[in-house]
Amino acid sequence: MSKTFFVKTYGCAQNTADSERIKAHYHQLGFTQTQNWKKADTVIINTCIVRESAENRAYGFLNKVDQFRSSSTPQIVVTGCLVGSAIRQKNKKGVSKLKKLKEKFPSVDKFLPIEKINFNIAPLRDKKESALIPISSGCNNFCSYCIVPFARGPEISRPFDQIISESKKAIKKGFDHLTLVGQNVNSYGSDLVKKSETYILPSGQKVKPVLVKSMGRARIPTLFPYLLDTVANLPGTKLVSFVSSNPWDFSDRLIETMAKNPNINRLLHLPIQSGDDQILKKMNRGYTVQEYINLVKKIRKAVPKIKISTDILIGFPGEDEKSFQNTLDLCQKIGFHKAYLNKYSPRSGTISKKLYQDKIPQKEKRRRWQILDQLINRPSSKN
Ligand code: SF4
Repeated sequence: MSKTFFVKTYGCAQNTADSERIKAHYHQLGFTQTQNWKKADTVIINTCIVRESAENRAYGFLNKVDQFRSSSTPQIVVTGCLVGSAIRQKNKKGVSKLKKLKEKFPSVDKFLPIEKINFNIAPLRDKKESALIPISSGCNNFCSYCIVPFARGPEISRPFDQIISESKKAIKKGFDHLTLVGQNVNSYGSDLVKKSETYILPSGQKVKPVLVKSMGRARIPTLFPYLLDTVANLPGTKLVSFVSSNPWDFSDRLIETMAKNPNINRLLHLPIQSGDDQILKKMNRGYTVQEYINLVKKIRKAVPKIKISTDILIGFPGEDEKSFQNTLDLCQKIGFHKAYLNKYSPRSGTISKKLYQDKIPQKEKRRRWQILDQLINRPSSKN
């Protein structure tokens, strides 16, 4: 009888996509998937450390599995951002924090860096409604509160033709909704092409990379509008979504691509994080409130039916009543369809933890959370 495995996933769409590859990897090793972790020979925990709550839930599950096992069964494998950040972060002597992690969790049999799982392995998908297609991993942005650039390293784009080939396979398997996934999808390709180079698409078409200037600053060359256009035009694609995109990499060309392809999702996720310029600056987000408003206006003009969802980080150090009020004002102005609201918690290894003290009491963060939730997420206040 073949051995069984179980995967528990925490965190974002990228982690979910990674888990689908982890499952395929174990399948190739001869394992069979079980939905009951108590019956598994190997339990794999795909961790997220972006928020304290997700990190604690992963630790809670790890303890539960550890207490349950009698001898060395099931084997416990930990992967994801916890492992990535431990490998990449070094102490003053240049030794990675992985050793410390091993000491902290002696019951873990293996710490698996996610990079060991091939990007191009055919994923074992659980979801039937949308196929997640990873297009890049890592991030170069270093928002001050975020651990991702340390946990996943610099942004690496997956080859264009691989993405198209996986999209075609997913369509063939019956998926008509494809979701392109990455930490910063709209900077896709900046590592594949130089500003002045011509890039040859898999179709043979020669294109110039798009230079993102949407926030008044020339940033990087990207191929994302071409990729999105190609996927949207594959026969059988009824709907294409993409997460997450960043306001400062949202090019005019991307807006045009959305406008001309009605099968690109009219629900756009565009994280704002705060409606106050001082806080945005401390967060190291590359835009001002006015620039964000201008971008939304431009998108709405070109794609009139668009609905916009966002992320807001509540209680970032220095967020006083006035800056919170600025966030409320912005939300009222924009009329977000939905907001994913997170309370700030300092994450070990991040820039904001090193620079700022987390002085806003939990009770106050909760109060602000409730006000924003009431304003944006209650059906009566939806646009
Ligand atoms: S863009 Fe900012 S918030 Fe998003 S993954 Fe990169 S560093 Fe984190």
